[in-house]
Amino acid sequence: MDGQYLPMSEAKISVLDWGFLHSDATYDTVHVWNGRFFRLDLHLDRFFGGVERLRMKVPYDRETIVSILKDCVALSGHRSAYVEMICTRGSSPTFSRDPRQAENRFIAFAIPFGSVANKEQLEKGLHVAISETVRIPPNSVDPAIKNYHWLDLVKGLFDAYDRGAETALILDTNGHIAEGPGFNVFVVKDGSLRTPAFGVLPGITRRTVFDLCAEIGLSATAADIARAEIKAADEVFITSTAGGIMPVTRIDDAAISNGQVGSVTRRLMDLYWRKHDDPAWSTAVIYP
Ligand code: PLP
Repeated sequence: MDGQYLPMSEAKISVLDWGFLHSDATYDTVHVWNGRFFRLDLHLDRFFGGVERLRMKVPYDRETIVSILKDCVALSGHRSAYVEMICTRGSSPTFSRDPRQAENRFIAFAIPFGSVANKEQLEKGLHVAISETVRIPPNSVDPAIKNYHWLDLVKGLFDAYDRGAETALILDTNGHIAEGPGFNVFVVKDGSLRTPAFGVLPGITRRTVFDLCAEIGLSATAADIARAEIKAADEVFITSTAGGIMPVTRIDDAAISNGQVGSVTRRLMDLYWRKHDDPAWSTAVIYP
């Protein structure tokens, strides 16, 4: 933060930062698994794309950001970490309300790896509720700019808890399935995969599922998924940097198929984690 490395407990921003006051920020999260970043280049591409579209400026070039992220992980000592890079609008030294006057701020941190699903949920599959909440439309906030506009997702999460489920899926503006708090979703039907195309963050794990499917000859497409279709799927899984590929075996009050984690999901989960030490997909952290 502001050119210094600090213990997490000391990393604090001003309450006047528009990242905090207006959610005027973009970020990206990459994970480190067994001492290696997974698909760091794709995360950096998405981060720099968001920064540009928000007309912000990061005071470092790409190479410097890579070394900052590596330093954060190396200094923290975490072998498996959740690594976040953030650019906030910052604030204006003259209290101007004009965002062009703000001094943008770059922050990066590394904390222990965390997952949307715990160990038991990864083995048995998650119970997900479909909330009536509509995800903020893409013509309001471009979902390709990874953002903290999460009030819809948080509302969905509380709806899910109220109904005894573990997490939520919320809808797009046409009433189709969109995404959940920090994850994309896939359905498997008759051996083919589908994930929503509209109004969702283009997740790097989602992209990785497409790449893995291409490698093993499975068909995967991005297209609308109706509520009835997800419930009638053979398999459902969610994808996130926070947890990878995670099975869903129950939606609302009904089991998906026979209620067990399906074979396509298991195969992709296995392949996904095996790619984490492949140098074509991962980058080493150099620890002191
Ligand atoms: N959708 C939303 C709203 C997210 O916040 C995230 C990750 O934080 C995802 C999807 C999954 O994206 P990724 O696979 O890049 O982690």
